[in-house]
Amino acid sequence: MNGQNRSNVFRQKKTMRRKRNRLIGQLPYLLIGLLIIGILGGISYKVSVKIALALESGEKGQSGEGKEKEPGDGADSASAENGGTEPDGESASDGSETEPETDSSIDALLDQAWLLAAGYDYDAAIGLLTSSEFYGAGEGGTTDPRINSAISEYEHVRESLQPVEITEITHVFFHSLVMDESKAFDGDADESGYNQVMTTKDEFLKILDSMYEKGYVLVRLHDIATMQDGRMTKGQILLPPGRKACVMSQDDVCYYEYMEDDGFARRMVIGDNGKPACEMIMDDGTVSVGSYDMVPLLEDFIEQHPDFSYKGARAVIAFTGYQGILGYRTAESYRETNPNFAADCQAAAAVAKCLRDNGWELASHSWGHRDLGTISYEKFKTDCDKWENEVETLIGPTDIILYPFGADVSDWHAYNSDNERFMYMKSLGFDYFCNVDSNQYWVQLGDNYLRQGRRNLDGYRMWTDIAAGEGSSRRKLDDLFKAEDVFSSNRPTPVVWE
Ligand SMILES: [Zn+2]
Repeated sequence: MNGQNRSNVFRQKKTMRRKRNRLIGQLPYLLIGLLIIGILGGISYKVSVKIALALESGEKGQSGEGKEKEPGDGADSASAENGGTEPDGESASDGSETEPETDSSIDALLDQAWLLAAGYDYDAAIGLLTSSEFYGAGEGGTTDPRINSAISEYEHVRESLQPVEITEITHVFFHSLVMDESKAFDGDADESGYNQVMTTKDEFLKILDSMYEKGYVLVRLHDIATMQDGRMTKGQILLPPGRKACVMSQDDVCYYEYMEDDGFARRMVIGDNGKPACEMIMDDGTVSVGSYDMVPLLEDFIEQHPDFSYKGARAVIAFTGYQGILGYRTAESYRETNPNFAADCQAAAAVAKCLRDNGWELASHSWGHRDLGTISYEKFKTDCDKWENEVETLIGPTDIILYPFGADVSDWHAYNSDNERFMYMKSLGFDYFCNVDSNQYWVQLGDNYLRQGRRNLDGYRMWTDIAAGEGSSRRKLDDLFKAEDVFSSNRPTPVVWE
């Protein structure tokens, strides 16, 4: 992970602020400068180490399960938002007399604080500034005016925050994104399935733009509620007025064999910047690493729009097991046929860890993509156990299940201990259960679980809105985006559910 890979927007803002800050900061600096020049090297070294340590500890907090995450836990979001950014190294090469090292270190500190505040972690932003070596480090305990003004700005915004009503949080989901529409919609046997349940890259990006414009902010399932002393306990999500929390997820992130040559990524890898990326086979047969699916595209988007992510939240990524995960053929059935079996298991585990470290939540989608509500109880147990043995062993403890087909193990009434399937999943460590529901939101906070409905944003759903016509009560997407503005013209129509 590194700090170089920043968005243009962020860079522009940073540059603007630096110019502004230099103007404001010049006078006091000249006065203080002479006094501190003798200890300059020592201070800036200490500050760098301190920030690096703060971020390092944040990274460790992040890479855990995140179950105990507290709102306002500053260190946690630092690494998720900026990938454990170190104070950028510009000062090292830029040691000119006009911009001494201290000034650069303050800039780096202000950048860190700004990024935390952009992700709604005002406590952490203020904490970072007030605990820095520069706070009260001037003559007579004065603080650089740039730091003081940042603190008061963040304190001001913090006062305006409002708690999110957690039963009104929407949850949207996707499958693997179509990167090459001409290959997915090419008239072969798989076309109809892709047309119904997949979303294309361009559609996804338009959906993100629209949701961002409408004030949506990604939160984790673990931000909504967490298990505490055996009880599912409401979390507190604080957002500025006009912002709305949402959860996002992606199912079947396995890059199944049938998807080869149909315009999808082939697997997920760790990119050069330490963030998740995808491999895709190009038309000339070469393999390209880039943003070829939802995960890296969302990383790109959040880099450009850090305020789309609450305290470093990303989406939930769900895996079946029968063909392995993330494009690696790690299922037990491949042990003899995949010559890279051991290496693929290692690589898949490393990518899964990279996802968690970057704020993604991981989930079960059952091992065999089974209807967990209707298969026999014996088959249900076997499927759950296979997922534990073949997937959880790679990705680590997981407490979320996204039901295949959205098929729940109960109707809308609260789960209870008479439901043996629910009890079996609980015994395996699952606390979060998501079905599919086209309503704007459906959240059930049970005694010892959280259940949420998810909305499919796919070709079928969009076409249904379009066919219903404007103003129809059968339209379901208008709070997120207008289907007519998003739906790809390359899709065969009508989109029929088969
Ligand atoms: Zn699925």
